[in-house]
Amino acid sequence: MSTVNHHPESSMLVDFSAGNLATAPSICVSAHLHFCNQCRNELLRLDQVGSNLMSEVEPTEVGEHLFDSVMSQIDQLPESDTAEVSSTSDMADSRYPLLVNKLINGSESVPKWRRLSRWLDVAQVTTGQNEYEVALHKICAGGKTPRHNHGGQEFTVVLKGSFSDEQAVYKEGDFLSCQPGDVHQPLGAQNGECICLSALAAPIELSSPFGFLMKPWLRINPM
Ligand SMILES: [Zn+2]
Repeated sequence: MSTVNHHPESSMLVDFSAGNLATAPSICVSAHLHFCNQCRNELLRLDQVGSNLMSEVEPTEVGEHLFDSVMSQIDQLPESDTAEVSSTSDMADSRYPLLVNKLINGSESVPKWRRLSRWLDVAQVTTGQNEYEVALHKICAGGKTPRHNHGGQEFTVVLKGSFSDEQAVYKEGDFLSCQPGDVHQPLGAQNGECICLSALAAPIELSSPFGFLMKPWLRINPM
């Protein structure tokens, strides 16, 4: 767990702590926190700062029935599901963050791997938002993915295995942010397949001469 080298920017953790981060990036940050002690500690500190700020805010008068109303709404919440993840999809893995397994098993339709190229499969998961396409990507051992431009922001967390690009090697738990205009070519590690969770905000443009062949499958398709 101490091998995580790439973390979300601190501004993302601040927004996450304040509840201001959009759903899909929050899913990626949550997945990273599963692997990263350093960011979990930072989040605890930020939560503490937030609660100190809240305690300094002047209290506001509320109606006398608010407390009862909140309590009755809590009573009506379904029992939280703490049981082991059931094996409705063989894509779930006990080493993944619980949230990721819940997304896999809780998707409206069971996610299925779709082949994008000889080396790359994708499986979309349902997240109830449409700003980002959230999906698992699988790069096979030694696989080469197409060199591509990012038309929009993309967040990626490595769930299993590792891959590299021109900048670095990314291992389990590592968090990558790609900004619009970034160009990179992920390569799968030789020693095994790599599975990542990613949230993609807009279509990516392929810069390979053969990229146009891939384009129809890489269109953003939020679900
Ligand atoms: Zn971290």
